[in-house]
Amino acid sequence: MSEENKATQTEEKKNFLEEIIEDDLASGRIDHVQTRFPPEPNGYLHLGHAKSICLNFGLAQKYGGKTNLRYDDTNPTKEDTEYVDSIKEDIKWLGFQWDKECYASDYFDQLYEWAEELIKRGLAYVDDQTQEEISKGRGTVETPGVNSPWRDRSIEENLRLFREMKAGKYADGEKVLRAKIDMASPNMMFRDPLLYRIKHATHHRTGDKWCIYPMYDFTHGQCDSIEHITHSICTLEFDVHRPLYDWFIKTLGIYPSHQYEFARLNLTYTLMSKRKLLELVQKGIVSGWDDPRMPTLCGVRRRGYTPQAIKMFCEKIGVSKRDQLMDIQLLEWCVRQDLNARSNRYMVVQDPLKVTITNWEPGKVEWFDCPLNPAEPDGAKRCVPFTGELYIEKADFMEDAPKKFFRLKPGGEVRLKYTYIVKCEEVVKDAEGNVVELKCSYDPSTHPGNGEWRSVKGTIHWVSTAYAKPVELRLYDRLFTQPDMGSIPEGHDYKEYLNPDSLKVVTAYAEPDLLADKSGIAVQFERSGYFFKDPDSTPEKVVFNKTASLKDSYKPE
Ligand code: ATP
Ligand code: MG
Repeated sequence: MSEENKATQTEEKKNFLEEIIEDDLASGRIDHVQTRFPPEPNGYLHLGHAKSICLNFGLAQKYGGKTNLRYDDTNPTKEDTEYVDSIKEDIKWLGFQWDKECYASDYFDQLYEWAEELIKRGLAYVDDQTQEEISKGRGTVETPGVNSPWRDRSIEENLRLFREMKAGKYADGEKVLRAKIDMASPNMMFRDPLLYRIKHATHHRTGDKWCIYPMYDFTHGQCDSIEHITHSICTLEFDVHRPLYDWFIKTLGIYPSHQYEFARLNLTYTLMSKRKLLELVQKGIVSGWDDPRMPTLCGVRRRGYTPQAIKMFCEKIGVSKRDQLMDIQLLEWCVRQDLNARSNRYMVVQDPLKVTITNWEPGKVEWFDCPLNPAEPDGAKRCVPFTGELYIEKADFMEDAPKKFFRLKPGGEVRLKYTYIVKCEEVVKDAEGNVVELKCSYDPSTHPGNGEWRSVKGTIHWVSTAYAKPVELRLYDRLFTQPDMGSIPEGHDYKEYLNPDSLKVVTAYAEPDLLADKSGIAVQFERSGYFFKDPDSTPEKVVFNKTASLKDSYKPE
């Protein structure tokens, strides 16, 4: 098959959700596509959510539909407006715009009415059992449950008690409202699921209006239905909930939204549970939700990852119906792909070794115009000063160098990037025998503006000591040491697998124009990696986060 045919074939390969949607449109089951992204505002969004966002918004975009942002805010004790705001910021940063901003709590009155309707139809009852009694009474997969002693209360009594629950007459846990379905159902979800629980807590939106709150199963499908969501996409663990989702919609006779499940994203060396991420923040193990080592969207943003790279990654991993552990190196590869094409280049020396150019006219400064991005040689330039005293990387010099070492060695030549070829004439050592300085000569005829281009095998980066700006670099490594953080052995805690060397702070020396960079995205430190300016920067101390290294042996399949 020709390359071209292959390309169109992969382009046309649809994921299972696209197939479903196209079938639904073709059969006339739906006449529009409406999706929603339903975060609970109890933490910051992470890369797993990015996958859900790309899917929900991406599908709607592809089929001319819309996506609502719906906050699933039925758990007042864990939710907060700080999270509500951060979620909006992150979705916008990814480049998506929701249609309506909705809250499950906007529908509390309607949900309450539906609960009363079920009571009146003999399909719901108030149960006085404790949580333990209820869960014991539900039985197991092998054994049927037993009916609650309160299951056959009269409709009048149930209505009175439910209204009293709402009016605040009872304490947390004293009573619950349950659907009356089938305690022997092979699907445990149907064994009289809880509809409402009592929680005397102030809600971030409804304040103290409610002291009863609807459960997830009684909320999600009906909210979808109210918003005429055509395809309610969620992660695999919800597939056992689907029959109940359908049951409420059918029983209430409301708009028939449908639920579809896909595999959640898991990444090597990464945890994506909001509860655990919150613990890392609260215990001070990381500096905050936006610590650049965190898999949160604000964390990777601060690290220098771009929305383009994240979307490229989500596209590449596709949509699956089986749980998958994705290689974080694929994400890093996407980051490099994007930044390689777009980022400005600068020279920065991280571990300096002084070089003196012995035949340079004392005090002379020569400015070199260098491209900001080599992909655009005629594009914008930066100005790099060359003087008689420079820094190079220690690692770019070797005294007893093997034959294949093409950087600087005694008597050897190397090109200082964008400028001259220099030759190492003398190695200066301190009392302990450490190399502290190199004395080199430069060859004026090798000026790159010269027509005659003499070439040498090695080119290294450098900065002028007189013009170098010290900057703080925060060098990150993976936060965890274990590839599969989802399968930690029994009896162990995920915190045992924290990488003690996930952050190293060093001072480096940068060419002056780095500090004037206005690109707004990570820059490339030539021959080293991608770095993104951190908001901790002050005029006195500029801080850069290491986004990714320049190269990696990893190749995507
Ligand atoms: P967590 O387990 O991290 O707390 P959650 O599922 O409770 O996540 P929600 O706020 O309820 O978080 O998630 C909003 C949406 O994002 C849901 O539709 C959920 O299925 C989806 N989502 C959450 N985590 C992932 C993931 N790792 N991969 C794909 N989708 C995810
Ligand atoms: Mg959830």
